[in-house]
Amino acid sequence: MATRVIVLGSGQDGGLPQFGARMAADTAARLDPLAVRLGPSLAVLDDTGRCLLIDASPDIKEQESRLLRLPAYAARKAANPFDGVILTHAHMGHYVGLAHFGREAAHTHQLPVWCTPDMAAFLRKHAPWEQLVALKNIALHPAAPDSVIEPWPGLKIRVFAVPHRGEYTDTLGLSINEKLLYVPDIDGWQHWAHARTEVARHALCLLDATFFSPAEIPGRDLKEISHPFIEDTLRAFGDMAKGRRLVLTHFNHSNPVCDPGSPQARAVLGAGFELAAEMQEFTL
Ligand SMILES: [Zn+2]
Ligand SMILES: [Zn+2]
Repeated sequence: MATRVIVLGSGQDGGLPQFGARMAADTAARLDPLAVRLGPSLAVLDDTGRCLLIDASPDIKEQESRLLRLPAYAARKAANPFDGVILTHAHMGHYVGLAHFGREAAHTHQLPVWCTPDMAAFLRKHAPWEQLVALKNIALHPAAPDSVIEPWPGLKIRVFAVPHRGEYTDTLGLSINEKLLYVPDIDGWQHWAHARTEVARHALCLLDATFFSPAEIPGRDLKEISHPFIEDTLRAFGDMAKGRRLVLTHFNHSNPVCDPGSPQARAVLGAGFELAAEMQEFTL
């Protein structure tokens, strides 16, 4: 049975266009639906319509609409829209879509939500998330870093801790069936001891590419930027691009690679990397 991973959102938490922003890319995306990038999220879908959501972005409604265009998902019979959700961390792009599982909207029943024990405690403690737990819309399943989640037989998601600014919770990266590596948010590759080992063991890697270079964020203290620049990522893994797919994702609206025709985008492709696209599919 084929398992597909679908990119539901290749944008950074705020997506493109970003609310309140008036950069040229935001204006272009408001005029051209093909330039829009939604909040960071993946779906894992099999032929029978079983579907796991990885991160619940603020764009979850539009992401569901797009998923419904896929026959395997449209034919889904289960009452809940997903068979479960894995949350990487509590930054707005990755979990606030959970609100749509509550009684004002989908009113799901016991939807399994896997996240770190830290994040489970955060959701249990704070409104409005604690109401999802109290009303049994979601059922929290704390998964310690370095454990394996099995949403259904044969789908194995290994989760691990990555360094990322943790105001509220710690942060997970994950490996899907040891084939696809997903690290949408990380402070920097040099801060993660397992970066090259994990990339080496995966044929397909989706990696944090929030910013291209410091040039796009003038006036910001670089120490506040808790992401690797694409320039750093090309250096960190450029020698590993042969024989595996290194796909960049989680683009900030300021990132010039959001425009596939930009010189920066061409430089990324020239270095043997790829740029994630909305609704791009990977068959595992
Ligand atoms: Zn993010
Ligand atoms: Zn984050």
